[in-house]
Amino acid sequence: METLAFQSEARQLLQLMIHSIYSNKDTFLRELVSNASDALDKLKLETYRDKDLVVDTSDLHVAIEVDRERRTLTVRDNGIGMTREDVIGLIGTIAKSGTAEFLQQLKESKDAAASQDLIGQFGIGFYSTFMVADKVTLLTRHPRAEGVRWESAGEGTYTVEDAPDAPQGTSVTLHLKPVDEEDHLPDYTAPAKITEIVKRYADFITWPIRLAAEDGGEPTTINSRKALWARPASEVTEDEYAEFYRHVSHDWNKPLETIRIQAEGAFEYQALLFLPEQAPMDLFMRERKRGVQLYVKRVFIMDDCEELMPEYLRFVKGVVDAQDLSLNVSREILQQDRQIQLMRRRLVKKVLATVRTMAADRPEDYRKFWREFGAAVKEGLLSDTENRDTILGIASFASTHDAEEPTTLAGYVERMKDDQRHIYYMTGDSRATIEHSPHLEALRAKGYEVLVLTDPIDEMWVDAVPSFQGKEFQSIAKGQVDLGTEEEKSAAEEREKEFAGLLEWMTTTLADHVKQVRLSTRLTTSPACVVGDSFDLTPTLEKMYRAMGQEVPHVKRILELNPEHPLVTGLRTAFEGAEDRGPLAETAELLHGMAVLAEGGDLPDPARFARLLSDQLQRSL
Ligand code: ADP
Ligand code: MG
Repeated sequence: METLAFQSEARQLLQLMIHSIYSNKDTFLRELVSNASDALDKLKLETYRDKDLVVDTSDLHVAIEVDRERRTLTVRDNGIGMTREDVIGLIGTIAKSGTAEFLQQLKESKDAAASQDLIGQFGIGFYSTFMVADKVTLLTRHPRAEGVRWESAGEGTYTVEDAPDAPQGTSVTLHLKPVDEEDHLPDYTAPAKITEIVKRYADFITWPIRLAAEDGGEPTTINSRKALWARPASEVTEDEYAEFYRHVSHDWNKPLETIRIQAEGAFEYQALLFLPEQAPMDLFMRERKRGVQLYVKRVFIMDDCEELMPEYLRFVKGVVDAQDLSLNVSREILQQDRQIQLMRRRLVKKVLATVRTMAADRPEDYRKFWREFGAAVKEGLLSDTENRDTILGIASFASTHDAEEPTTLAGYVERMKDDQRHIYYMTGDSRATIEHSPHLEALRAKGYEVLVLTDPIDEMWVDAVPSFQGKEFQSIAKGQVDLGTEEEKSAAEEREKEFAGLLEWMTTTLADHVKQVRLSTRLTTSPACVVGDSFDLTPTLEKMYRAMGQEVPHVKRILELNPEHPLVTGLRTAFEGAEDRGPLAETAELLHGMAVLAEGGDLPDPARFARLLSDQLQRSL
């Protein structure tokens, strides 16, 4: 027998369970039954994959047994089981991404209700058994390995030993804590209590769940085993959907939205999909899985079926049950199957249409949805050109119109000024940098609204999506911003001539830093700003590519001067009268540095900038 220590995060979670203030302790049984049901699914799948596997699958089921005298409760399945490595890796450690953040949040939340909420959101699976038991014994055997016995009181360590007699599958025995109604600890050895919990949480599980009779007689099957998606929509209650959602998603919250599709005809299928209320912590991690399971004729075939849902809708959970596929269907076949492709198109359209309806009918829920998943959905603007207009239609964006409320593009277009031709936006790291950026000045002066785009994905889609409802997207930090009337334009041309000498000289002087110096139409109060050419990478994008390890050339930008600003007109006068342009070159450099700082950028040589500035200040005293 070997005694091993829990990984430290696991230990902290266990402590939390042992001293749990979580009032809904019944959920431990749901977690055990859910794991058992998953294990049966996995075994079934394994026998399709490996025809030589010797294992009895004639009576796959979950059995629950109680011993009132010894106060034990056992949940047994004859599913896939676990190897010794599995037991140590899966039960002794928590691989769930976001655990560290979760524990940190929990530590910081002082109030009990808030921590209950957090526990609920995180979901704790197997460890929830320690809310009701002071010792847990797990006996398990994988079809290709020896049996293992695992035991723990949840206090820092567990034991593992060989168990040659362990039958196929897994049994988990809880040595129950004493009944304590005040602490929400009912008698979990009472058959009525168990039946009630299973009916409430696991009725839809398609495997039989049997409760052993106390007198040693025939066990009774206590779940109805009806697949929810196969029942008429009018008969299924919201609670039943919510429980099923929890089972497929491993999320303890209710779903934000439930979507059903019944497709009849040559290729028949049913889909039951859910939009979660909250984004999982790993939504933007690369190894993250997709949430749709594939069933064929009620039989579970695979998890994480990426052929059914595109990457940008990876947060959608649920089940698709196809009637006309072979049970042996493989990923390779799915990828090439035309029917599957048609089905996927329909599922995607339905999900997007559901969001559109939600936006119209339940704006609060829509706002919640977009806050959680908008950044993922926007990836579809790049990857799903077929649905691009639909995605633009359901998207919302922060804007200068309202500091709190995001706007739809339709809302933006409606508010456009009579003389305004483009949808203006600016990308950047944060709302604050964008709002303080000099690029906004002239637009603000004209009363034009600007979209404030701060998600990393925004940098990408704005280059790929040309327009919305015929209005082109225009970055206010790129290219020439054309805001003027005819009159203003000819005045600008005049000024361009007046400044020609200065601009040419500055372009040469600052050649290491910028590719051009020109006059600006976007500034009213600042002397200068730096902008990109229409097709250049933005500085943020440049940084992002470097962070991903890609080689990108440094992009030189354009320095724009405000011809109305005293500093700029003064510089011109000095330039024209100067014999020695040396000191002026330093002023030009300072002007460039200030423009970089104003947009929250990094100076090429901060020490030199500070020295030039201090020299100039001294001279002015
Ligand atoms: P989750 O189910 O969300 O993965 P759990 O804490 O409930 O988290 O379970 C952790 C892992 O332990 C499962 O993913 C599974 O691999 C394994 N496991 C738990 N119970 C069983 C079981 N009855 N049979 C086989 N494997 C199991
Ligand atoms: Mg589980």
